[in-house]
Parts: sequence; C-alpha cells; structure tokens
Amino acid sequence: MPLTIVRNDITKMECDAIVNAANNSLLGGGGVDGAIHRAAGPKLLAECRKLGGCDTGKAKITKGYELPAKYVIHTVGPIWHGGDYGERELLISCYRESLAIAAEHDCKTIAFPLISAGAYGYPRAEALRVAMDTCSDFLMEHDMMIYIVVFDRDSLFVSEKLFADIRRYVDDNYVSEMTANEDRRRSELFGAAIPAPQALSAKADKKPSLFRRAKLAKLDMPMAEYCAFEDALPDDLEKAVAQIDESFTEMLLRKIDEKGLTDAQCYKKANIDRKLFSKIRSDVHYKPKKITVIAFAAALELPIDETRDMLMKAGFALSHSSKFDIIIEYFFTHKRYDIIEINEALFAFDQPLIGG
Ligand code: ADP
Repeated sequence: MPLTIVRNDITKMECDAIVNAANNSLLGGGGVDGAIHRAAGPKLLAECRKLGGCDTGKAKITKGYELPAKYVIHTVGPIWHGGDYGERELLISCYRESLAIAAEHDCKTIAFPLISAGAYGYPRAEALRVAMDTCSDFLMEHDMMIYIVVFDRDSLFVSEKLFADIRRYVDDNYVSEMTANEDRRRSELFGAAIPAPQALSAKADKKPSLFRRAKLAKLDMPMAEYCAFEDALPDDLEKAVAQIDESFTEMLLRKIDEKGLTDAQCYKKANIDRKLFSKIRSDVHYKPKKITVIAFAAALELPIDETRDMLMKAGFALSHSSKFDIIIEYFFTHKRYDIIEINEALFAFDQPLIGG
C-alpha cells in the first residue's frame, strides 16, 4: 500500500528516510525533534549545525546516524495562528519539499510524523488531511511507500459528526461475535439452510427458494457469507452461473473499462502499488486480499451490491459481525468513496486500512 497510517514511534521506523518536525534553528527541540536527536546520537546535531537553519515550509536532509533510517529530512512546519496566515500552504510545502528531497536521494520508503500537530498547534484532523492529500498527490507521479506515523493512541482523526454517525451505524448493525458463532454452530449442526432467526431478521421478507436452500445446505458457508451470497444471487440461474464464471480479475478489468478509467488511474485511486496491480492483471485467477478488493471497489465507486459481488468472486463477504465490514458498508451505502476518508475512519476505529 503506497500510503498508510501507522501508530508507532517514528524513531523505530525502518525506512530510507524519516522526517523530523524541526524548528527554524535545526538545533533540536522538544516533541518528535527531541526524540529523533536522542535516538540518532550527537553526530546528528553536529551535522545540523552546519546547515544554517531552515525556513518554514522548506526541508533539509542529513544522515540518520544511530537511527534505523538512512536519512533524516528536517522540515519546519508552520505555527497555527487560526488558519488565516497561510498555515495550510506552508504545511503542504513541508510535505512536498520533503518528498522531493527523498526522491532526489532515491528513497523508496519514508515516514512522516504529523508535522505541526504538536507544540505548533495545527488541528490534528486537518493536519492529517493535509498530510494524506499531499502525499497521495505526490504518489500520482512517483513510486514510494509513505507512512504517516501517529504517536498518540487517543487522537481523533475524523470529524466528530462522522465519527458519531459511523458509531451509530456500527451499533445499529453489529451482530455480536457470540451470535455469529452461534450461527456458525447451528449451520455446522443443521446445515447452512437453517439460520438463527435474529441473524436474518433484516432479510425476513426475502425467503430463499427451496432450490436455493437445498443448494446452500450443501455449501459449508458461515451465515454472513450465506446472506451475501443470497443478496448477490440473481433470480436467473444462467446469469448466476455466468457471474460465477467471471473471476475477480476479469470483473475488475471490465469495471475499469466501463468506468472509462486507465489502469493507472484506478490503482492509484485505490492506493494499490503498480507491482501488485500488474500481478492481478496477469493472473486471471488471482486471489486478492479483502482490503485490496474493497480498495478497488471504492476506486471504481461500485454500489454496495456490486461490491459484494466483487468480494464474492474473491471468496469474501461483508458481515455484520465485523466492525470493519460495517464501516465499509456505511461508506458505500452513503456513496462516500474517498479512500483517504475511509482509511481515516478505519484508523479512528482501530481497524485495518484498505489498499494493496
Ligand atoms: P510541531 O512542533 O511541528 O508541532 P511536535 O514534535 O510538537 O512538532 O509534534 C508533531 C507530532 O509528532 C505530534 O502529533 C506528536 O504527537 C508527534 N510525535 C511526538 N513524538 C513522536 C515520536 N517519537 N514518533 C512519532 N510522532 C511523534
């Protein structure tokens, strides 16, 4: 995945370069700056002394010394004065300048802290948005693996309203693990055609035909997949067979054409790296990860039923016993396909992020 958010101490990141949120003097300070200098050792300060400081929005590079990273790129973020003093442009410039220097030094991996979001007071959710947007713009033109490293556990990175909406949606739809396990036991004992009533309550008006029940009873399918299968199964059996015949790769390539996208537009929008896309493209029976399928479905802005269909072709389903799945369902049913926003929300709920 070319761009991802991780929780970590940036001094532990094993990347070609880590970025330091420094001050204009470049002579060390508190926060992440202090942590980087402590971990890199005194030679870092000695090299920094020779650099003659750095303007806000600019960046300079040094070696990493005792750090696992080969380089440290020092950039100076803006101090937040309320947002009307060019803070956003300066913050964008920090990311762009740092990335340009990393590219010049042939870095393949880079880790950023949330520049300006500590002592300099930039609102955290907005700082993260600037980081994600600027890095994903850069990745449209370059190949690099970019980590946005977040230190604190309790930071809230989506708006409170979106967070509350998703939480409500999760609460309304979550089927506890116990219920899901019970479904699984029932289906093992009695066959998949005999679901627990509460698990199917939302589908009470959609009774599977006897024929389907008979077929499904033979399938060793947990309840969630059963529901998705039932949802995705068209009435016309021939169509169903044709759909099953089309593999995940074939469906993906068909959808890319139908949406009038180029391959590169699609995999970049999906936050998937080029090598993974080539693998998928060249193997008609490629078995992707679930997070990859969902990333493509978001990039293609597929409605929820087609998303389920695409997932099914790769052997997956969306289940109401998984918070991750419910959050994905929330975004797709609300037609919100911005992968950065989806990933910010998944991160806020401690779920895996989507992408390659
Ligand atoms: P600034 O002065 O640019 O605001 P700070 O160092 O005060 O810089 O904070 C920038 C961000 O770095 C904050 O979000 C802070 O929580 C985070 N941070 C502090 N220490 C570390 C660390 N060791 N690894 C990653 N992030 C860190």
